[in-house]
Amino acid sequence: MTTIRFHNTRTRRKEVFEPIDASNVRMYVCGPTVYDRAHMGNARAAVSFDMAYRLLRHVYGADHVTYVRNFTDVDDKINAKAAETGRPISDITAETTQWYLDDMAALGVLEPNEMPRATQYIGQMVAMIEELIAKGHAYAAEGHVLFSVKSYPDYGKLSGRSVDDMIAGARVEVAPYKRDPMDFVLWKPSSDDLPGWDSPWGRGRPGWHIECSAMAYELLGETFDIHGGGNDLMFPHHENEIAQSCCAHPEGGFARYWLHNEMLQVEGKKMSKSLGNFFTVHDLLEQGIPGEVIRFVFLQTHYGKPMDWTAKKAEEAEKTLRKIAQLFAAPILSKPWSGNSTIDPPQEVVDALANDLNTSLALTHVRTYLKNGEEPKLAASLRLLGFEPTLLVEKFASLQMRSKSSDARLSVGVDAKGDATSLNGDALMKVQEKLQIERQIALKTKDFSEVDRLKAALLDAGAEVRMSKDGVEVFAGADFDASKLEGLA
Ligand SMILES: [Zn+2]
Repeated sequence: MTTIRFHNTRTRRKEVFEPIDASNVRMYVCGPTVYDRAHMGNARAAVSFDMAYRLLRHVYGADHVTYVRNFTDVDDKINAKAAETGRPISDITAETTQWYLDDMAALGVLEPNEMPRATQYIGQMVAMIEELIAKGHAYAAEGHVLFSVKSYPDYGKLSGRSVDDMIAGARVEVAPYKRDPMDFVLWKPSSDDLPGWDSPWGRGRPGWHIECSAMAYELLGETFDIHGGGNDLMFPHHENEIAQSCCAHPEGGFARYWLHNEMLQVEGKKMSKSLGNFFTVHDLLEQGIPGEVIRFVFLQTHYGKPMDWTAKKAEEAEKTLRKIAQLFAAPILSKPWSGNSTIDPPQEVVDALANDLNTSLALTHVRTYLKNGEEPKLAASLRLLGFEPTLLVEKFASLQMRSKSSDARLSVGVDAKGDATSLNGDALMKVQEKLQIERQIALKTKDFSEVDRLKAALLDAGAEVRMSKDGVEVFAGADFDASKLEGLA
């Protein structure tokens, strides 16, 4: 069996991964707070742990891995959004949860086995808080319940900081009901206009940290294999999770391997709204950057290193994916597609991933298979890395008819089955050329009505339209219907 090694934040070393139970390998990852679109940093965490999940499934078997990623659907940011928009909280969280799932699916992220929502586990949180009070690790005061940090001597070990450093470095809220400034909230009172649940301490709602401890305990037990998250969560969130879980269930020891992904920058700068370089996954997808391109760019950098998102990297990734798709698509018209072969992924690719998820080396192997035209190896490696070859062909192998056009940017796609019929192709080509011309005019006149009309008609016919500063590209989707384009061009 392949030996997996992970860098364990807890020990600061790369260690051989030995699961507690190889027939049920268990991983918990902190999920999103659902009040807004997922930004690129959120997506990097999801893709990083998706790779861990895929590797574990490959090595231990898909039925022998349990991956839990939560949704935080009770939070002051959600309450603020509801107050700001006048919309019910449940609408906001349901909508945002679905956005997250859709965006992550576009990036090839598998759904975890369990996606618990915090509000479904309030009873378990209350039970855990009661246990912490009973064991002398927490106290109730003025409708709040606080965790007593001094009661847990190992506090700070994960991030390697002393409590004094943490007090100095954190903006610790000094509240009259706290015995010590470091103590953190397990439960807080809710006014009538805020979400709340009855509890032994009055109507209230949980603090953020207790959610993960309670849900991990309920779904994975008092000890499990891997806990993951962005390294911005290491302190205080993960320190607090450890303190709660280890004090409530001292015999368990909580998670054994802690994995943290590094942060994402954009064009060399920290992503921030004030710098104007803050964008969501949805923003990029809307701009016509396929999810596969985003995933490919992410995987080029090791999850434990800072990564810089640049437009240049996205362009290069798209070029490589096009080459891959063209290699797969080339023989379609004459013989069965070899990309469908289901050989095991090459061991060197598995080994790269098993070495603390070295996705960058895995992609180097992928490029070699591409260069050598080794399609079955390429397809099997891509599947392991979360790219479905059929989808790559559908989205990227659109250059079959590119030479027909005077503008090299113009292209017509083949559909999912590779049926680039000339009839469909001609119809598309004509409308695409018209769209290109109309767009050039519109860019001068600022009247986009004709462009919008053509684009709507193309979408209605099942075509995909991508516009960038360099031109217009139109692709036939799986349900493309050329007859709907009649009379347009
Ligand atoms: Zn968490």
